[in-house]
Amino acid sequence: MSAVFYLTTPIYYMNGEPHIGHTYATVVADTLARYHRLCGERTFLLTGSDEHGEKVLEAAAERGVPPQEITDHYSAIFRSTWDELGLHYDRFIRTTEPAHRQVVQGILQTLFDRGQIYFQEYGGNYCVGCERFLTERDLVDGLCRDHERAPEHRTESNYFFKMTEHFEWLVGHFEEHPDFVRPERYRNEALAMLRDESGLGDLCISRPKSRLHWGIELPFDADYVCYVWFDALVNYLTGAGYPDGEEFPEFWSECQHVIGKDILKPHAIFWPTMLHALGVEPPRHLNVHGFWNVDDRKVSKSLGNMVAPLIMRDRYGFDAFRYYLMRDMVFGLDASFSEEALVARVNADLANNLGNLVSRTLNMTERFTEGRVPEPGPGDEPERAVESALAQAVAEVDRRVREMALHRALEAILRAVDAANRYLEQREPWKAAKDPERAGGVATTLYTCCEALRITALLLSPFLPEKSAEILARLGLEGALKGARLPADASWGRIPVGSPTSVGKPLFPRIESEEQPA
Ligand SMILES: [Zn+2]
Repeated sequence: MSAVFYLTTPIYYMNGEPHIGHTYATVVADTLARYHRLCGERTFLLTGSDEHGEKVLEAAAERGVPPQEITDHYSAIFRSTWDELGLHYDRFIRTTEPAHRQVVQGILQTLFDRGQIYFQEYGGNYCVGCERFLTERDLVDGLCRDHERAPEHRTESNYFFKMTEHFEWLVGHFEEHPDFVRPERYRNEALAMLRDESGLGDLCISRPKSRLHWGIELPFDADYVCYVWFDALVNYLTGAGYPDGEEFPEFWSECQHVIGKDILKPHAIFWPTMLHALGVEPPRHLNVHGFWNVDDRKVSKSLGNMVAPLIMRDRYGFDAFRYYLMRDMVFGLDASFSEEALVARVNADLANNLGNLVSRTLNMTERFTEGRVPEPGPGDEPERAVESALAQAVAEVDRRVREMALHRALEAILRAVDAANRYLEQREPWKAAKDPERAGGVATTLYTCCEALRITALLLSPFLPEKSAEILARLGLEGALKGARLPADASWGRIPVGSPTSVGKPLFPRIESEEQPA
């Protein structure tokens, strides 16, 4: 385990409000950051807004306002949405910030001085949605595959980055770091792009101001602005304090990106070659997620399907929505969003399984041990089975989170909850309390369940921050997450005997079907 962890979300494009795709990536990043922090790693999470480029200009023109007004508007909405949902970030970067402009211009000048940038005329099929010239492979029936719109033919004189010079190095990097891009399907996809000679040339990194003035000016030619992707990718450097931030080298050496599969090419091809030309190491991992389909269509900014995160929060509670997003999407694959599936998942895992353990444990502690965590007697085989189920979960969660299998991490936690519920069934303290021969064991049973709940809440806290804190509070451990450390605090037997418990309202009420919108 390393001492630091630097994680980034994509910077989101500022021509619309946050939808399920943005929310998913931000939830995943928030969860990872919380987990690494819980493990004692110094963690820095960067998110932000991508504010230049043609689509922002289009949106500004539609509304008859200056582009900066559009980006101020949406950037504020993204920020307040994440704040309101409790999605924590350490820095929200905006690509229109002077600090970022300075870094981009510095990099452009360095690459220009090193002979990595040249001037040339270029023509081809240009997609306004993608903001790039398309190759034949990007077209389906003459339309852009991602945007379902016809490209325009364009000819332009522009500046190009000698990207192809770095391909041989990049292929080697992929071979030496098999998990640079993960899951593996995206590594294979990126390698296929690299090996396909016809698909990729040098990277056009400028736009003439006569056509597009909304961007960062090239430091060596005031008639041009920087191509939006080049500018956007550099945010990850700016955010970490490049070039001379004191902590930049340490954080950069443990940098990981979370991205959607639609932006694989810029991140897996453009970005590492740009860094290589600069003499900066590539990030450690590109973690690539799939799409949420709603009504069987990909959710993209352009198609405009939305599952607004604040509406989901109001309807189901944000922890329930978070849980569904991470549990029902295999990271890297596409998944179908439906409120029916969300309700089924939340009822099965949280209301029935975890909720049941919480309410039975707390109710019986109230009834049989005066609302206190009781002093346990020596445990037997069944107690040891629960202890070992939790220990297994602690180990598996760590492995699964670090390999980006978040749904597997949640499965592991819920398996331990299952084991604790089965244990309760086996010990049946509600009967044992009335049986003189067994009544003496009730304290041990309830202690075991309280301790299982404490460890479960600790493990769940990166995934369900609010509900986990609430479980701990009901065990008399309010504020226990502050300063908690994995794995040490998840070891068995740390719950203080005598800690006051409280029953409270159901933590995960069943969502009844009539509450579901049609
Ligand atoms: Zn397109």
